[in-house]
Amino acid sequence: MTADKLPFLPFALPEIGEEEIAEVVETLRSGWVTTGPKTQRFEREFSEFLGEPSLHSIAVNSATAGLHVALEALGIGPGDEVITTTHTFTATAEVVRYLGADVVLVDCDPATLNIDPKAVEAAITPRTKAVMPVHFGGLAADMPALLDIARRHGLKVVEDAAHALPATVGGRLVGTLGSDATVFSFYANKTMTTGEGGMLVTRDAALARRAKVMRLHGMSRDAFDRFTATVPSWYYEIVAPGFKYNLTDIAASLGLHQLKKAQRFRQRRAEIAAQYHAALAGLPVVLPAEAPAGELHAWHLYAVRLAEGAPVDRDQMVQALFDAGIGCSVHYIPLHRQPYWRDRYGLEPGRFPNSQQAYERLVSLPIYTRMTDADVQRVAGVLRRVLG
Ligand SMILES: *Cc1c(COP(=O)(O)O)cnc(C)c1O
Repeated sequence: MTADKLPFLPFALPEIGEEEIAEVVETLRSGWVTTGPKTQRFEREFSEFLGEPSLHSIAVNSATAGLHVALEALGIGPGDEVITTTHTFTATAEVVRYLGADVVLVDCDPATLNIDPKAVEAAITPRTKAVMPVHFGGLAADMPALLDIARRHGLKVVEDAAHALPATVGGRLVGTLGSDATVFSFYANKTMTTGEGGMLVTRDAALARRAKVMRLHGMSRDAFDRFTATVPSWYYEIVAPGFKYNLTDIAASLGLHQLKKAQRFRQRRAEIAAQYHAALAGLPVVLPAEAPAGELHAWHLYAVRLAEGAPVDRDQMVQALFDAGIGCSVHYIPLHRQPYWRDRYGLEPGRFPNSQQAYERLVSLPIYTRMTDADVQRVAGVLRRVLG
């Protein structure tokens, strides 16, 4: 077969098995389709997956929702500043604006594309309340340095771990590293999926209590539990204008089985990354950074950068892949290049040279568990033909 006869190879695809399908069907037949027993089980098993059963895992209908309620529970509001990386998806930053606080964007490290701790420290002002690292592509950010900065300056840390299930730092899984809250995404193209969904994890019981109230209308049953145990269960109190962020049992049905497969999924993604590394060696591309020896990289993304002196530019590379029937993407158009963020904060590309230079050269190649070894070689073959 010639390349143009091959079927289109998408950029991302979920792997949904018969187990997930059967669980969803059982949930539908059970009559309990919104948040209920399966969501509770998913939360419990998520804490167990992270190796810390006492961790509070709070299921929400997106990572964006989880980030929002985490910052809300930490008291972030008007007049506050939250530092995050320009090299991320807008969800990381938009939640700060939901709360009326301001986003302070900083540059990334040129090797890992993760938030640069030195840039974080330089951006701290008397108004700074929190830092939001993002584990770009599934490679954990420099959490020891970031947690140290936060401790010294009295800042909260909320990790955007949308890419980082599972990834480790010092052998410990992201989610258990000691930040105030960590939020995972189960969006369709993430390392595991519930269609739409997310999980907020925290060791802070007060934060967990507030997040649970705010994910469902600001409805509290604590008052009921504590003061009115004799009143039947119709009673609740509204303690805040909360949100509608609960995860359904239909989605949790997917999550229960995806979670069981998460280590196998990571293994397969790591194999694909290794195959790309071998196949692309020697080409004028900067390969994505690997995790330090002994650490887990979640490999949500495989983002290469065209090197100085490559015979094509990024747009020509994207076109060549498209012409060969292969989907790809760019992670990210940095926030400082997006009209809203650029105009609100008057951001010039020159302020973020690492993210800016990466952006101009980045292409994310397909990486997902349903890809075959032949699919990987097909993608690599296009890069070899175009760049070799
Ligand atoms: C996907 C993603 C999110 C948002 O996740 P949702 O579950 O879709 O809300 C946030 N941050 C980053 C870095 C992401 O990639």
